[in-house]
Amino acid sequence: MAGKIEVGILGATGMVGQQFMLQLDHHPWFDVAWLGASQRSEGRRYADAAPWRLATPMPEAVRDLVVEAAEPGHAPHVVFSALDSSVAGEIEAAFAAAGHVVVSNAKNYRMDPVVPLLIPEINADHLALLPRQADARGWKGRIVTNPNCSTVVLSMVLAPLRQFGLRQVVVTTLQAVSGAGYPGVASLDILGNVVPFIDGEEEKIESETRKILGGVRGGAIEPHEVVVSAQTTRVPVANGHTEMVTIGLATRPSPDELIAALTSFAGVPQRRGLPSAPAAPIVYLPERNRPQPALDVGRGGGMTVSVGRLRPAQLLDYKLVALGHNTVRGAAGAAVLNAELMQAEGLLA
Ligand code: NAP
Repeated sequence: MAGKIEVGILGATGMVGQQFMLQLDHHPWFDVAWLGASQRSEGRRYADAAPWRLATPMPEAVRDLVVEAAEPGHAPHVVFSALDSSVAGEIEAAFAAAGHVVVSNAKNYRMDPVVPLLIPEINADHLALLPRQADARGWKGRIVTNPNCSTVVLSMVLAPLRQFGLRQVVVTTLQAVSGAGYPGVASLDILGNVVPFIDGEEEKIESETRKILGGVRGGAIEPHEVVVSAQTTRVPVANGHTEMVTIGLATRPSPDELIAALTSFAGVPQRRGLPSAPAAPIVYLPERNRPQPALDVGRGGGMTVSVGRLRPAQLLDYKLVALGHNTVRGAAGAAVLNAELMQAEGLLA
């Protein structure tokens, strides 16, 4: 492991924490050396503490790590956070105050004006906020965040369309049960059913998207002007959030121009060859019944967003269907890509 950067995982035992173990197994730059979770897990071997729910077996390298209290002290300089949001605010701030770099999945600091809400293909320049954290929050370390799992999918689709004058978006989500953590939604509530409410989700999609697509002006984020209206539902799918999106534009591009913009989209991760960067951040599937979670969620190792069914809309201009892996591109994979971006920019020292 010589030369690798030791990292810790806060909330290591949860759904996203488990996905971190897979994303970081044999990672060329990072080595999982420390795990933190609640008192329920503290002092137990990871293999005993984590209710493993992933189809890929638990990596051997982490089975015998002993879960510690979620407190700074023994943790490595760089920690990923998959903490429940009820505790993430306080614990992540304690780590940042103690000098750690916290790469978080939780919602608590996403909309903080001095915290980057990163999707490296879209807004790597938002890292410019980081120097403000010392004065504004008194942190010796730093916090960066990745978006809500539905927001990531939507923002990836919208970013390449900004060039056409992105004005309005109406989105309805069909979200997988793994997005609710484990044990998450009770089986009797979701089997053969659709639940048309996910607490706080619509607000997150509507606000986070504008911050992500915004620009940096005078050291602050100026949100994008797009207006987003979201409805969110939970559906009996294991992994993969599907989103029905209708888009209003200021200009009138052809469908081929839109598809070309989507499929040619790439950013800093592709240019710099970051280890978790998918070769194609967005693929367009021409079949009329795609994308589907059962067939397309694992594309690009779960880091590629699949789009299909682009056609003119009777309201606004175009409609399409998008799909992304909620615990990979929408959570652990997103955070690992954020950390890779920071390492490439010399920000993990
Ligand atoms: P989860 O399965 O419920 O896991 C929560 C984790 O937080 C567990 O490791 C748990 O440890 C730990 N935890 C709970 N209370 C704690 C405490 N008092 N002190 C220390 N650790 C504590 O949740 P999840 O789905 O993995 O989500 C984790 C975070 O990522 C949440 O903030 C969520 O909103 C966000 N997120 C999730 C997704 C997704 O698709 N699931 C996507 C994007 C973002 P124990 O096992 O010891 O209780």
